[in-house]
Amino acid sequence: MSGALWAQSAPDPTFRISLGQLTAWVADLPPSIAGPILAHPREFLEDYKPLLSLPWDQMVLVDKGHALPETYAPRDLVRLSRYGLYTSRPTEEMRKEIVPVLLEMSRSARKDGVRLKFSSCYRSWAYQRYLFQHYVNEDGLATAERYSARPGQSQHQLGLAADFGSITPEFAKTAEGKWMDAHAEEFGFSLSYPQGLESVTGYMWEPWHFRYIGKEACQVQKKWFGDIQQYLLVFNNEHAKELKASLLKP
Ligand SMILES: [Zn+2]
Repeated sequence: MSGALWAQSAPDPTFRISLGQLTAWVADLPPSIAGPILAHPREFLEDYKPLLSLPWDQMVLVDKGHALPETYAPRDLVRLSRYGLYTSRPTEEMRKEIVPVLLEMSRSARKDGVRLKFSSCYRSWAYQRYLFQHYVNEDGLATAERYSARPGQSQHQLGLAADFGSITPEFAKTAEGKWMDAHAEEFGFSLSYPQGLESVTGYMWEPWHFRYIGKEACQVQKKWFGDIQQYLLVFNNEHAKELKASLLKP
């Protein structure tokens, strides 16, 4: 890479950033991800641009190092059963804003002979605290931390994440699990905790847990971040602000 040339000219005409900056921003990513970004910076930034105007909660990083406040709760929670969606309990809730997507996804699965079951959806901070303690009592702290989040650190608090089907590893082998694995991204749902990435995500493989980040973000996740949500959301958490600030006004 000819660093000198790129350092003097912006990699994308709509951003006021240099390739040197971008190089620093992707330094923590695996070479298999950083390499293609630095080889095609203009294309990357062009693809990334629409993500900068998404609602904050759609892209916010919620993990073991980034907690939501105890006071945070979405304002538009609705019971999914009211819309005819198949749920484990009639009280399961998600954000009203994404109900059309949930209906579309369920209908599409149904056409393929699959019935999507929304098993565990929105969880309040207080409920997550109860749940985590319950698992600690059952399995001990070290084991509980591999599959359950501390209060504030659960994507479920956003009202945009859902556990499907059996909520067990066997889910991956079911028709429902295979359908979600193949089609979730078409509806903007991303698998949060893929297999073999516990050291990256902090959680063991959860083939049943998906978070809505939107179709555009799913495409960027797949094309530029090795289809790993954590890498995308960490990058966004660290650099979205600078990217927005460096965006030239049209
Ligand atoms: Zn979950």
